[in-house]
Amino acid sequence: MMRGANRSGLGLQYIFVGLTRLGATVAMGSVLVGLGVAWLASYIAGGSHTALPHLFYVPIVLAAVRFSWAGAVGSAVGAGVLAGPLLPADVAAGSDQPLGGWLLRLVIFVGIGLFVAWLARDSSESIPRAFQDAVLSGRLLQGIERGEVHVVYQPIVDMKTGRITAVEALARWTQPRHGEVSPGEFIPVAERTGAVAALDRFVLKEAVNQVQCWSTPSAPLKVSVNVSATRFAQDDLVENVEAALTRSGLPGGQLQLEITESALIHDVSSAAAQIARVRALGVRVAVDDFGAGHASLSYLDSFAIDTVKIDRSLTSRVVAEPRTARLVSGIIHLFASIDLEVVGEGIETAEDYVHMQSLGCLLGQGFYIGRPVPAEEMADKVLQSAERASSTRSQVETCSGHTAPTRSS
Ligand code: C2E
Ligand code: CA
Ligand code: CA
Repeated sequence: MMRGANRSGLGLQYIFVGLTRLGATVAMGSVLVGLGVAWLASYIAGGSHTALPHLFYVPIVLAAVRFSWAGAVGSAVGAGVLAGPLLPADVAAGSDQPLGGWLLRLVIFVGIGLFVAWLARDSSESIPRAFQDAVLSGRLLQGIERGEVHVVYQPIVDMKTGRITAVEALARWTQPRHGEVSPGEFIPVAERTGAVAALDRFVLKEAVNQVQCWSTPSAPLKVSVNVSATRFAQDDLVENVEAALTRSGLPGGQLQLEITESALIHDVSSAAAQIARVRALGVRVAVDDFGAGHASLSYLDSFAIDTVKIDRSLTSRVVAEPRTARLVSGIIHLFASIDLEVVGEGIETAEDYVHMQSLGCLLGQGFYIGRPVPAEEMADKVLQSAERASSTRSQVETCSGHTAPTRSS
């Protein structure tokens, strides 16, 4: 599906990702090109025929990009000393070097260094790191095209009945050479480079198709899809969601977008507007990892959300820490009182399950309930959970092959 029409799009995106995220490298490259041009111009104008003075700028530029202001000043002074008192003659003219000329050169070195540090001021990344990010995200974009990325599903259950009411779609990437790459590794890189937009689009499309296949009118299943904080504000999100729903036929009410608090608090007014647009499609919005970050309650007023997912950093402590248990109980009841659905994440043991249930948590997710599994395995679980009739079985089994990862040979 990603082949053909999207191939050139992904290729361009790869180049774009590389260029936009290599701010420091681009700044450094521009300065080096500028120096080359400056030397050529002075050569043509009959000035110095040696490029040596200009080579002094290379370490200054590198240090300014890598170590900012301090690096710029340190390397400029170092180069200034080297090009002055330590050399018997003016590096450009080959004649004796007057003190004034040497000082002027030192000032120019420092000025250029500070200018480059200013150009690269917004780049928090080191150059090697920016390169590594660009390479990994380029591979990820190719991996999406080549069928190396697939979606696994983790059940979310009604804690009273144990019945699967929803599944969370999670991305998995298996590189042909290096095997499985952890989401903890590739998701942050994809977020830094912008490649997460393509990943989220892919997962959304796969997940809604799959869940539409598993759902029956008598047992509608919901699917939760993660949307990166960096992606949530983007204009095409609503368009993509609408297109995925239309293509799959899944009703909007069966799709839930999970966003983290950081997506909400970054720009409150545009997040509120985006939530309104998403909910106008009937799509639900969940706040993910509640309790892991700021856990601010103030946004409950500002945002029309449907669900809050309590982070496992809280859930994992309810058994051992009575105070945390009381806190979680309070959170659950507070949210329930304003008609928000609450999901307890990270339920890893039977004890966690029983405790969360006793605290009033109605929906749960975690390794004890079920680990994320490929579509084929989840089809069986959905089937068993709903105890469907044999006619439904054949429908689900047909669907289970639908999104089996299409790997390149
Ligand atoms: P998340 O959205 O909080 O997803 C739940 C993560 O917790 C998953 O890790 C899941 O495997 C793990 N988990 C579930 N139950 C338990 C449990 O009982 N104990 C423990 N220790 N862990 C549990 P995973 O799949 O490694 O994903 C990590 C994060 O990567 C996700 O955290 C989500 O933020 C991000 N992610 C995964 N897929 C996507 C995607 O398609 N798009 C975006 N934007 N982010 C994704
Ligand atoms: Ca999530
Ligand atoms: Ca979560």
